[in-house]
Amino acid sequence: MRAVITGSAGFIGSHLAERLVAEGWWVTGVDSFSPFYATADKEANLAGLVGERRFDLVRADVATTPLHKLLADRPLIVHLAAQPGVLGSFGTGFNQYLQDNLLATQRLFEAAASAGCPRVVYASSSSVYGDAEAYPCFEDYTPTRPRSPYGVTKQACEKLAEVYAGMGLPTVGMRFFTVYGPRQRPDMAIRRLCEAATGGPHFTLRGDGSQIRDFTHVHDAVDAVVKALTADHIDPVLNIGGGEEASMLEVIRLLGQMTGRAVPVERQATQIGDVRRTAGDTGKARRGLGWRPRVALRDGLRTELDWVRERREADVTADISLIAGRAS
Ligand code: NAD
Repeated sequence: MRAVITGSAGFIGSHLAERLVAEGWWVTGVDSFSPFYATADKEANLAGLVGERRFDLVRADVATTPLHKLLADRPLIVHLAAQPGVLGSFGTGFNQYLQDNLLATQRLFEAAASAGCPRVVYASSSSVYGDAEAYPCFEDYTPTRPRSPYGVTKQACEKLAEVYAGMGLPTVGMRFFTVYGPRQRPDMAIRRLCEAATGGPHFTLRGDGSQIRDFTHVHDAVDAVVKALTADHIDPVLNIGGGEEASMLEVIRLLGQMTGRAVPVERQATQIGDVRRTAGDTGKARRGLGWRPRVALRDGLRTELDWVRERREADVTADISLIAGRAS
């Protein structure tokens, strides 16, 4: 089996690439190493795949690079490349979202349709729901009313998928709900909390901490994507949520218990575009893919906390050897 993964150097993409390669797939990763966060972090995400003969990496921008050669042998496609984050999508930052989310997705669908690719699994987001009137959110019933320009781009990607599905391209949109775990993006709350809990900068809590998220461990998110690539029947969009809701204050308390000391927190006003709650019904993914989330929040937090701690210790060791090198 062969797959092309866009955004393969990112958080979710690198885990997915590792999982597919471990299962015997041939994988081509495409990533522009966009400056949203450090290139070194993205290179580190791919460290486990260096020298792996079943994996090759194309450094390219999906919004501009010719795609027909990459897709000539009609691979399965997972399209994860995007400019993520809610806050940055307001103001002039929106330009980048137009490029990386809308233009890149339209070009990918266009090229996949003309190559005759059998399926495109692409990243949508729980942010398409905005503040819902009732929870959990259902794919078929809950209106999509994004509260940020980022959410609007994800909603528009779903609309683009409908257009190309109508032209014969099978597509499935994964509405991911707050994915966390090792390699999580540095802008995301759990990553920043784990940094604060292990001696890094204080965590900036935006709002009163009562905002609730349906946290999804990256292994569960990846498992859903793998199943969506190969399932006989696919729905056009699926909620992919961990099913264990928690408020930010609850997560802060839990991490404090796990580390044995309160996480240092600074408070700021509510962030623009932030929704009160996310929670998705995952019945469709469970029935259609034979998938269910397996990682409990406490266990999942432990995996990210350990990863953050290991990184910090590796940095300290590197600093010490640098100083020792200078002294000698
Ligand atoms: P990430 O930023 O870690 O990964 C995205 C990758 O895409 C990056 O490596 C980046 O360099 C690459 N990229 C961006 N624009 C590109 C372009 N034009 N061409 C080629 N590569 C490009 O983000 P992530 O958290 O792994 O998210 C993956 C996808 O899942 C995104 O589409 C995101 O919107 C979506 N999503 C993520 C979450 C979450 O909680 N992490 C939740 C909902 C949706």
